[in-house]
Amino acid sequence: MKITEIKTHYLQAKLDQPFGWSLDWAEHRSALLVQIDTDEGITGWGEAGAPGSGPIAAIISQILKPLIIGQDPLDREVLWEKMYAKTRDYGQKGLPVEAISGIDIALWDLMGKALNLPVHKLLGGQMRGRVMAYATGLYYKKTPHLTQELVQEALGYLKAGFPAIKMKIGGLSPAEDLENVRAVREAIGPRVLLMVDANHAYNAVTAIQVGRELEKYQVFWFEEPVIPEDLQGYLEVKEALNIPIAGGECEYTRFGFRELISRRAVDILQPDTCKAGGLSEAKKIAALASAWGIPYFPHVWGTPIAIAAALHLLAVLPETPSCRNALPFVQVPALEFDRTPHPIREELAVEPILPEGGWVKVPTAPGLGVEVREEILSKYRVVLD
Ligand code: MG
Repeated sequence: MKITEIKTHYLQAKLDQPFGWSLDWAEHRSALLVQIDTDEGITGWGEAGAPGSGPIAAIISQILKPLIIGQDPLDREVLWEKMYAKTRDYGQKGLPVEAISGIDIALWDLMGKALNLPVHKLLGGQMRGRVMAYATGLYYKKTPHLTQELVQEALGYLKAGFPAIKMKIGGLSPAEDLENVRAVREAIGPRVLLMVDANHAYNAVTAIQVGRELEKYQVFWFEEPVIPEDLQGYLEVKEALNIPIAGGECEYTRFGFRELISRRAVDILQPDTCKAGGLSEAKKIAALASAWGIPYFPHVWGTPIAIAAALHLLAVLPETPSCRNALPFVQVPALEFDRTPHPIREELAVEPILPEGGWVKVPTAPGLGVEVREEILSKYRVVLD
């Protein structure tokens, strides 16, 4: 089998209402999908970046495509190493690795379809057929009644059956954010897991001050308290607080994760499969995390292709550690289930991936198990210069 074509689809959907986090406001949702065609008529789909961006398409078409065309798609590891070596001198992190990630995920999808097996079977077999999901929501909104709206949104996730909810902090003053965390905790009661995500809005000193207050609200994890480059800051925050520290969505490849893992800078590791190097690299990062006893909860913020990639990985990740009564969130990793508006996520797949009572099934169809609705590609396509 030979690869005959690689196409990228840059999609964008305008939102009715913007939503925000500590860094920015989202007015649109976007995705960069990768389509790989072969001479045997089998097509693989991948997703690059979270969210995808136009420059990733240029990296794929101008730099990576010539390395891939004419090659055997089953030589996935060989192609990964070639792509990484080609871009190493100006890449290593960021968009070049996100481009490689999208191609790698498409190659796994392609291999599964070629062999008539789901990706998790190719990754090593199924530890679990379904995973617990947590709701990622509770972003900032442009409203004078933010606290009340956050409380209502959180109650909606409870009603939908989510056992855990993640909310944003770092976009207001610490006092205002803490008041919102208090209100949400009071509304959802003590048993529901509540995580907070600062998207690295703080320096270590502020993160520790905020974290000491968060301890009062039984926060299950404190995500990205400081900038990803500040490993020492992560260690100081982790040392000072009685809340697990999570991070990793801004890190790339086994080389980038090596320090984060080996210095035990986080309690929960969150590589994004569409950014960190694809499923091939995620497996290697997971092996490193396993050796240091660090749980791996994939970061997910994309379309059903990204969600399916995460689900196949979650199906094979080991318990940390294994035990007779392994529980979601304690020894068993959970799926990040983004609940913010994303028209492309809702419309792209013939069969949407949805939770039932907080659980999401791992797809069983060949490849990633996502059938793409091609009309959605033209509906949201952005023409790049
Ligand atoms: Mg995050």
